[in-house]
Amino acid sequence: MTALALSSLSREELRRWLEERGHPAYRADQIRRHMLRAGEGGFASMSDLPLQLRTELEESAVWSSLEVLAETAADRGLTQKLLLRTEAGHELEAVMITHPARDGSRGRRTVCVSSQAGCAIGCVFCATGRLGLRANLTAAEIVDQVLEAARRWDAESLGRPTNVVLMGMGEPLQNYRQVVLAIHLLHGWGIYPRQVVLSTSGLVPEILRLAEEGLGVRLAISLHATHDELRDRLVPINRRFPIASLLDAAREYAAASGRRVTLEYVLIKGVNDDPGAARRLGQMAASIRGHVNLIPMNAIPGSDLRAPSPAACRDFAALVGPRATIRHSRGDRATAACGQLRASLTPEPRREGRILARELALVGSPSGPPA
Ligand code: SF4
Repeated sequence: MTALALSSLSREELRRWLEERGHPAYRADQIRRHMLRAGEGGFASMSDLPLQLRTELEESAVWSSLEVLAETAADRGLTQKLLLRTEAGHELEAVMITHPARDGSRGRRTVCVSSQAGCAIGCVFCATGRLGLRANLTAAEIVDQVLEAARRWDAESLGRPTNVVLMGMGEPLQNYRQVVLAIHLLHGWGIYPRQVVLSTSGLVPEILRLAEEGLGVRLAISLHATHDELRDRLVPINRRFPIASLLDAAREYAAASGRRVTLEYVLIKGVNDDPGAARRLGQMAASIRGHVNLIPMNAIPGSDLRAPSPAACRDFAALVGPRATIRHSRGDRATAACGQLRASLTPEPRREGRILARELALVGSPSGPPA
């Protein structure tokens, strides 16, 4: 029988779980405080709980649904990547990004979490896509990535996580139910939906479902191309949900949530970085009253695709217009930047051949729209 992951329960559910076993409900808050605290080693070390409760917890629940396999750091320790394993043996990664307080601004602590182990979408520029889908993560496994990060920041007395971005491994909207449950659970840990960014490759029906859900998370769409012929190859889900339908869904989401939608655009030299693409991207952003994040591509092993030069990125951004910001992914030296997460202890590149073949078809491809 699989043990209960405490992170799968809301505060109220944990209170009820304790009461059903004859323990006072207030113990729930004690347990949850431990779950956020640095240096905790599991139920045995919760010395303010009665021995009987600790024993019961040991027997029927797990401290965390994830095991930490490795940790790496970059940017002088401001970016940390955690390699984690689920009870079922699936590996995944989470990234902690610390933005120190500066010039009167308060510091931020962002956790980039995975929603799946691997990913089925197969975007050409993405290391995770090369793994294929191994498993959907449970809500507890998503929440535990944030709690792992919280304990590490607590160890440095930096405070709680301030933002969660669903931009790690996986397409969050292909794991819709568990992702939405995780967002509800995170609220109970003090992370409001407006502090959560959900990044999708463009599953139109689920974007509309999310709009109806009324959660109020911020939505980012991985666009990466301004015409269908190219996007079909870069982001294969585009063959089912072309750009026009995606922009319609973005408008609906913005109207329903009252939040500006972000278009993410990985800049790939010679593929999607021509002046025409920049102008079309600016028009698309204006049409949804959204914003554009331009992300110079991070090199991934086994791929020739590269970012344009910094000057070319700046020229592209100027043509997109005032709605564009160039974002440099933090942590690329720890292979922790966007599109580079790939649980790396036991890589299984079973889809590599197919994706590399598609990638080769991009070389020399015209990046303007088909005539
Ligand atoms: S970019 Fe996102 S959706 Fe595309 S393959 Fe990578 S993880 Fe999946």
